[in-house]
Order: sequence, then structure tokens, then C-alpha cells
Amino acid sequence: MIPEAAIEAAHLIDRLDRLARSSEAAGGLNPAQWEALRFVARANRFSRTPAALAEYLGSTRGTISQTLIALEQKGHVTREASARDRRSVVLGLTARGRGMLRDDPILELAANLAASQPDALDTLVEMLRGTLHAMLTRNAGRAFGACYTCRHFRRDVDVESATPHHCALLDEPLSEDDSRAICIEQEASTQNH
Ligand code: SF4
Repeated sequence: MIPEAAIEAAHLIDRLDRLARSSEAAGGLNPAQWEALRFVARANRFSRTPAALAEYLGSTRGTISQTLIALEQKGHVTREASARDRRSVVLGLTARGRGMLRDDPILELAANLAASQPDALDTLVEMLRGTLHAMLTRNAGRAFGACYTCRHFRRDVDVESATPHHCALLDEPLSEDDSRAICIEQEASTQNH
């Protein structure tokens, strides 16, 4: 039996999502293009690929390709051959794309959440993250969580460096910005953050 409060919470999340999406058209991008643009801004250098984006959005490569072509034509993203593997494409954000995200409609939802109950935000994030993780686990999906929440993340391995943290899985140095980026390889740590 699902508690009434949980059902009410699910309806509220659904309603908030619709409200947030209703103002997205104002920016001249459709919802898929907004989601792709946000992904490129938030993903780390190991994850900014069309394949990872397709997995993140639960979409096909063909659909993602159309979305990326549109974003490229509008001057928001770049697609370049990867320095590590010339057969792969790495996505990047242009100055115009970054400017677009400064007016991202989702920020209105974030501002309202912050104004509502600022002390409860951390708890809310943990709760939503846990719910997302449970649903993705059931569907064999990837969490794409923030790097610092990953079990492979090693904090302050080299504190004098501009990349003080380390990825134990990929054996790569990580900056402070990297630690907050989302990653296709992220696996939730059992420790609290
Ligand atoms: S520590 Fe985890 S999330 Fe961070 S780069 Fe490595 S695999 Fe990705």
C-alpha cells in the first residue's frame, strides 16, 4: 500500500515538471534541446558524448543526433573529434550556449525551491537522488550522479594541485569543477556527502 503522502508528492513533482517545461519554449529551444544543453553543461569530460547523452535521456542515437544538429546550427554546442579517440565525438558548450543557460527556465523552479524551505533542501536532494537511484536500478539505467558522490572519487589526493581530486576508476585527476559534474561512470558511494 503506497502512503497517501507519497502519492501526493508524486503528483506535485509531476505538476512542477509540467510548469517548468511550459516556459521552455520562450527560449526558442524545445524540451529535448534544453535537456541536451543542460547535459553538455553538467557532464564531465568522460561523458560529453552523443552516446552518453542518448543514455542519459533514454533516447535513440538518431533522435539525439537531430537534437545536436539543431543545437549546433543555433550556435549553442560544438561537436569535435575526441583527442583520446578520433572516432569519438566530444560535445562542448559555446559562449552563446552558456549565455542561454544563464536564462534557463529551470532556474525559476530552483529559486522557488530555495525560497520555500531552504533548510530542507539537502534532505530533499538526498530523497530525490535516492528515489531516482531506486528507479534506475530497477530499469538497469545509469544514475549519472555527481562525481563527488561516486565510490571511485578520491578527495584531496594532491591538495597543492589545480586538480586535487582523483578518479580511481579512470585513473584521472579531477578539479573542483569536475567533482560537481555528472558522469556516465558514476556509481553511488555508500558514504554520506
Ligand atoms: S570518480 Fe566516478 S563519477 Fe568521478 S570521474 Fe571517476 S567514475 Fe566518473
